[in-house]
Amino acid sequence: MDDETEDGRDSKRRREEKDEPQRHDILWFSDGNVVLATDKYLFKVYKGLLSMHSSVFRDMFELPNVGRSSAGDIDDGSAQEMYEGVPLITLAGDKGEDVVHLLRALYDHRYYSCHSKDTPLETILALLLLSAKYDFKDLMTNVVKQISRQFPTSLKKMDSIIDDDEPIFCEDQNDVGWPLLQAAHKCGVDALLPILYFFCSNMDMDVILEEANSISPECLRTLHKGRDESIFMFSKLISDLPEHLKGDIGKSKCLDDRLCANKARYFELSLLNTPYFFHTRGRDVVKDRLANACKNCCSSVAKAIEKRREEIWAKIPSFFGYSDWEGTRASSNGVENS
Ligand SMILES: [Zn+2]
Repeated sequence: MDDETEDGRDSKRRREEKDEPQRHDILWFSDGNVVLATDKYLFKVYKGLLSMHSSVFRDMFELPNVGRSSAGDIDDGSAQEMYEGVPLITLAGDKGEDVVHLLRALYDHRYYSCHSKDTPLETILALLLLSAKYDFKDLMTNVVKQISRQFPTSLKKMDSIIDDDEPIFCEDQNDVGWPLLQAAHKCGVDALLPILYFFCSNMDMDVILEEANSISPECLRTLHKGRDESIFMFSKLISDLPEHLKGDIGKSKCLDDRLCANKARYFELSLLNTPYFFHTRGRDVVKDRLANACKNCCSSVAKAIEKRREEIWAKIPSFFGYSDWEGTRASSNGVENS
């Protein structure tokens, strides 16, 4: 931090009085060579580092008037605004707090690790939105990978995250999907959209209606369309169970003299006709809804149900307008399926 002169303190006081952006306590390097201005903060940072990571900043700094004062020039309205001798660039539309997350992630490796599952959601959203806006390619790839780990495209991994029911990015699982969907939609991150659409659609209509205003109408339309198609497939999975039962017991090593094939039956299957795909796990269905079957036959039926769930899972991206999980992941930022 630079030494505050009396003039500096005066000008700080004047800025505070006028409700103008304040110098950020941490992101103000006295030898920085550019000042970035937001609604709330001023940041004195280094052009070189920003240019190295972001093509948008690189192009901005290469404009002929950036870095030159207007003194002595004819004022054609394009003169670079200066702040205490260095160029001042106003980041229109960016929230000061979001830019803090971006700059701290860039300047301090202790601040952000893309391998953490405990990065606060607010940081994740800021990094996603701003890395997309300013084309910070590496940061974007890292944050998309980080989100993908919590929203995997493998059914087994997603089932296990739902089972664990642990907070995602320090938030309750029910609360985290919507802001991520909104941000991923705004940034057009195809690698994340199918799973986020599905995750948010797999909820009660009450919740969807409550959250409807947090996403764009286009996003909401896609979500509803995908939800309708998903629910149709889940209902079919459940209603076809009795028909498949004998076949699902199949050649299981029955512990009851092969009697299960005739006496096993489902009960109250209608209770499973809900929007919740994650309530159709094979092991739960046999445990809660299958009677008169031995352990081995239950296990055989559970495996058959899982196989059908995997088939439905593979189709889910198409309900939301995407080709498949792998294709959508591979097409965006080179992010691999993790
Ligand atoms: Zn049996």
